[in-house]
Amino acid sequence: MTVSASAEIAQDTILVGIGASPGIAIARSHLLNRARVGGIERRILPTEVDAEIATFRAAVDKSKAQLLEVKGQAADQHAEHLYIIDTHLLILEDQLLINDTIELIHSELLNAEGALGRTLRRLRQVFDSIGDEYLRERRSDIDSVGDRLMRNLLGEIRESLESLTGQAIVVAHDLSPADTMQMDRSKVIGFVTDVGGRTSHTAILARSLIIPAVVGLENVTTQVSSGEPMIIDGTTGTVILNPSPATFREYLARKQRYDYLEKELYAYRELPAVTLDGHHVALRGNVELADDIAAARTQGVEGIGLFRTEFLFMAAGEPPSEEEQYRAYRAAVETMAPHPVTIRTLDVGGDKFVPELNLLDEANPVMGLRAVRFSLKEGTLFRTQLRAIMRASAHGKVRIMFPMISGVAEIRACRRLVEKARQELAEEGIPVGPLALGIMVETPAAVLLADVMAREVDFFSVGTNDLIQYCLAIDRGNEHVAYLYEPLHPAVLRALQRVCYAARHAGIEVSICGEMAGEQLYALVLIGLGFSELSMNPAAIPRVKRLMRQANVAETRELLDRLLQLPTAAEVVAVLEAEMSRRYPQIFDFSHP
Ligand code: PEP
Ligand code: MG
Repeated sequence: MTVSASAEIAQDTILVGIGASPGIAIARSHLLNRARVGGIERRILPTEVDAEIATFRAAVDKSKAQLLEVKGQAADQHAEHLYIIDTHLLILEDQLLINDTIELIHSELLNAEGALGRTLRRLRQVFDSIGDEYLRERRSDIDSVGDRLMRNLLGEIRESLESLTGQAIVVAHDLSPADTMQMDRSKVIGFVTDVGGRTSHTAILARSLIIPAVVGLENVTTQVSSGEPMIIDGTTGTVILNPSPATFREYLARKQRYDYLEKELYAYRELPAVTLDGHHVALRGNVELADDIAAARTQGVEGIGLFRTEFLFMAAGEPPSEEEQYRAYRAAVETMAPHPVTIRTLDVGGDKFVPELNLLDEANPVMGLRAVRFSLKEGTLFRTQLRAIMRASAHGKVRIMFPMISGVAEIRACRRLVEKARQELAEEGIPVGPLALGIMVETPAAVLLADVMAREVDFFSVGTNDLIQYCLAIDRGNEHVAYLYEPLHPAVLRALQRVCYAARHAGIEVSICGEMAGEQLYALVLIGLGFSELSMNPAAIPRVKRLMRQANVAETRELLDRLLQLPTAAEVVAVLEAEMSRRYPQIFDFSHP
């Protein structure tokens, strides 16, 4: 890359956001000029209304063009097929669909996909209430046209990314987890966004994909246009626009150093995860995509502690069938043998939006019909997933994990469905292996009831990303309150202590699979608390293992006791940082930003 002075941006303009995925990237920017957020409703500014309407109209035109093309190809087929296409074309002319959506963009200041989502839901309700069977069945045409329109609206980011010819740093208002998942890693070497927090799923995916990223920059999209030279440091959350030759050279050297240290850490992959005094803690991997499982193995994981199955649903155009899921789970189990694979049942909602699942339009989706609540309500999807997981258990060690449990009744409801599926499979002569059933502890209710819940399950896995969010009442994806999202808050430490105590007392395994588990600063605190398993982004394993192998469990408990006495998160952080840099000066250096 040549470093050229930009006309508008002062040399070495520094922006500071939230370091979401470590590493340094140096390239030109590629601005995604609109904020497509995976179908999620978003308020827009009055000045954005015209552009939003134009985007919606473009999606309508594109949908019509696609249908006409299909019609052309199908011209020699049965008349009924052509009739369906004509019906769909007519729906695309329908004033109720088009005008209502445009009106909502206008009057409610909604983004195009949010407005379209509302119009479609309204239309579906109208069709559902119609007595006439023939007309009621026309609802499926609305669904089909609605899906096409939505895909064309959301497809914009994908198309823009596909048009990339060389390597670039993507600059976007926001990226949905689905957009991030589909990035071509050979071209997108980093990204920065206006919104987001460290544990938003887009950030989690960036770490998984090993793409340096900075989020929560608030207005980077208004400061950068495409083709500007820029540097991002995902470790510190720093972005440098229009770097001077000196800064460019400095970051190139930093990048080389970072890459060299990463390679050095490879050596730890094969070593056992034991402390100096011989205490073993299983280090497992969190994976989002079935394809990542083989890669996780190469990082020295002892199994998968969290398989986020919702990404299978995001990747497909429609919910994957039992057979497709079975194949994915079975491959995971076989790749990981003899280690276990912890398969978490569908955890949609919040920032994980899957258009095909018709999630409700909720004012507060993070506290809405998400995760296990959604699965229990949508019985068929849940049954299909449970059957697929249970079939995979015949091929290796499987643990089923239910997300967002907030009461014993939910555990029992899940268990009943597992037993029902077991019976059905037995009647069909399909083998099922031994299964461990566990829950994610990520609501304050689950913490307070940990002793009771421990009697109902085989293991706990603490989802600190959500637990911190619900415990401290901080939206994990909101950059404005990111400063309050404190994993070492005394309330969080006490919650973790309580969960570990309950698990130990009941003799069940207790794991942690939130992002805290992969931060080396917290590793000894978590070992001191008594977690028997830490599950993390596989790339973080060598670092955590290196530290573990230099620690002593008795010392970690002493350290924990000291931290538990402190009244504020800031004091806990200060004492922990001082202690870690005193004990491991080669690893921890907090003197630089
Ligand atoms: C968590 O909440 O900590 C967790 C691991 O689940 P997710 O990040 O997918 O919500
Ligand atoms: Mg969670």
